[in-house]
Amino acid sequence: MPFDNQRVDVSGVDDRRGRGRGASVALGGGGLGIVGVIVVILINVLGGGDASSLLSNGATSQGTGESAAALSDRCNTEGAIDRYEDCYVIKSYNEINEVWATQVDSYVAPRLVFFEQATGTGCGNASSEVGPFYCPADKSVYIDLGFLAALQEQFGAQGRYAETYIVAHEVGHHLQTLMGTEARVRAAQGSTGDAQALSIGVELQADCYAGAWSAQANRAGNFSITERELDQALNAAAAVGDDRIQQKTQGRVDPERWTHGSAAQRRQAFLTGYQAATGSACASFVP
Ligand SMILES: [Zn+2]
Repeated sequence: MPFDNQRVDVSGVDDRRGRGRGASVALGGGGLGIVGVIVVILINVLGGGDASSLLSNGATSQGTGESAAALSDRCNTEGAIDRYEDCYVIKSYNEINEVWATQVDSYVAPRLVFFEQATGTGCGNASSEVGPFYCPADKSVYIDLGFLAALQEQFGAQGRYAETYIVAHEVGHHLQTLMGTEARVRAAQGSTGDAQALSIGVELQADCYAGAWSAQANRAGNFSITERELDQALNAAAAVGDDRIQQKTQGRVDPERWTHGSAAQRRQAFLTGYQAATGSACASFVP
């Protein structure tokens, strides 16, 4: 996965790691995550061992208590994107913003917040167990890297490009906020709309945006991918399907409680965006 040679830009990053645990309260309304349920089994995984040992590729997340300048220096050393998980995620975030800035009028990048265990957000207090998520109220993507690694491990969403897909999905929610889709859907859910179908449509559209970005970044050569990495993204999209997660966490599949779509739907949504290589191909997911 060759990257372009632009510097890793940490200016949009809010690094809250190493600032204590905060209140461990689950996220309130408004947050849009990559998964539909609070993943109870992961709490056990994290409670029983050191989550950092689960980081893929033996990479470290580092960064605890580091200043922005130190983070920037570290992420811009030779090989840092391959070596450090956080630098890789920041590079992904940079490239995702770069593409959307060329296509969305007055695009403003979301903030990228790294936290551990729990943190306050514009959508209420959030604990890691909700998984990576986007908060429309403060236009920020929240990620606990240790928990992300555990999530990937637990659900078989392996590979680094799976992480890129997750960041791109969350930035997809940011696009929905910028373009008014989120407000429109929220209003429809509050009135006569089918709240579940709308929720699934919003999530599949975010997957589609992730695919559209992926194809564009690949073609432009800023974030080239191989077949193997495309597979990692497609597998990750399927791994966080509601049916897979329900089967894993409760031993049965209950479509009436789906919020994000099935494995097959999520995989297909990513592929729809990827094959079209344009965000406009994702419009039809949300009425
Ligand atoms: Zn989502």
